[in-house]
Amino acid sequence: MNHTYMCPSCRAKTRFNVIDQVVTPVMWNNDEGDYEETERQELFHMAYNGPDKRIQCGSCGLVEDEIRFLKMAQNNAK
Ligand SMILES: [Zn+2]
Repeated sequence: MNHTYMCPSCRAKTRFNVIDQVVTPVMWNNDEGDYEETERQELFHMAYNGPDKRIQCGSCGLVEDEIRFLKMAQNNAK
C-alpha cells in the first residue's frame, strides 16, 4: 500500500497539510437574515459528496484533492 504524496505543482514529497473536510449543512433563514445549521438533511438539500480530505503542499501552498497528490506520486514512482 503506497500512500506517498507528490505535489502536482512543485513536485515536493516531504511536507503536507492534510485537511479533513468538516461538512455543516446550512440553510437561509429569512426571519434571521442569516444562514443557520439544519439538523437533518432537507428534502431538496443535496448531501455533500466531495472528498473527505484535501491536501495542501507545505512547500508551495497548493490545495487540491488528495487523489491528485496520490496519482502524482504513483505516476512518478517508476
Ligand atoms: Zn507544491
